Amino acid sequence: MSIRFSEDTRSSRHHRRPSSPARFDLSLSENPFPPLPSVLRAVNEVLAHANRYPEFLPRQLPEIIGRHVGVRDDQVVVGSGATGVAMQIMQSVAFDGAEIVTGTPTFDGYPIMAEMVGMTLVPVPLDDAGNQDLSAMRRAIDKRTAVVVVCRPHNPTGTILSAGELKSFLNAVPNRVTVVLDEAYAEFLGPEERVDTLALLRKHPNLLVLRTFSKAYGLAGLRVGYAYGRRELVERVRRLQLPFGVSASALAAVSASYAAEPELTARIRHITGEREALRDALLACGHAVPRSHANFLYLPGPGVATALRRARIAAKAYPDGSARIAVGDREAGRAVLAAVAGLR
Ligand code: PMP
Repeated sequence: MSIRFSEDTRSSRHHRRPSSPARFDLSLSENPFPPLPSVLRAVNEVLAHANRYPEFLPRQLPEIIGRHVGVRDDQVVVGSGATGVAMQIMQSVAFDGAEIVTGTPTFDGYPIMAEMVGMTLVPVPLDDAGNQDLSAMRRAIDKRTAVVVVCRPHNPTGTILSAGELKSFLNAVPNRVTVVLDEAYAEFLGPEERVDTLALLRKHPNLLVLRTFSKAYGLAGLRVGYAYGRRELVERVRRLQLPFGVSASALAAVSASYAAEPELTARIRHITGEREALRDALLACGHAVPRSHANFLYLPGPGVATALRRARIAAKAYPDGSARIAVGDREAGRAVLAAVAGLR
């Protein structure tokens, strides 16, 4: 399947929620489920003490997350969503004239943050199947490169690189370049699709794995994400942590979420099941939707974003008329299908 991807990298600091109320807002790859009752209870309990500051610098969260992931607490840095952590990473390795290499299109945050920290973005177009073009990304790395971002799954296409491709890429990147392996949607992967990040970290001191509680855990509103890697690199990133920067409610929600893993897994299964059913239906109508491993689908080609907007479905729109929609809500999926069925 060959698809053309928009290479527009204009960053906009303004995410526009639709002006007239949308019937469905699928624009931000959010989880359709509200927090689990046990998570809400835990958050409500700490809110009763919201007159108090949280920890000066997060101590408990790195411990809890480190235990979950299988690394020491000093190998974890937490922040205001994966966005906040990515920004800290970029700030901690920036230098005059520094560049950041990413696939394009990618998560909007990268061009925005590059501009904020004064790094030049070097956008490398996706290949025709919607994958990051690792050979081209490797060729784009030079002495000005401070950071290279590899997303797995990739946003907006949902595609994944194979473990082998990722390994060869990491072997080819010089150690002075920080590699951010952005796994914002890792929890949607099946066990056979995951990569052994701990093994990768043993080999690559320049690697940071970036994750979030916004997607599979459904805590986007609480703004909590993390990165893990070798202690020396994490220590550098930690130096830029904002005092009192992570709320007590984030800590409570993460602990309660880890305790509710089976219920969250069932929700993930529901979301991926809806994704597959909707993709099959879209393929049947002639939409060349790449196989997604995340909680969204990419509908390529002209007219899609407009058709969705006309049906009052908010989607992330791309300059060539393509769109990305969050999945998981069956009713919203039906509305998407009805909106775009006649287009191809
Ligand atoms: N990375 C990727 C690939 C994303 O798609 C997103 C959110 N859309 C993020 C990072 C940031 O997520 P958050 O800041 O909510 O943790």
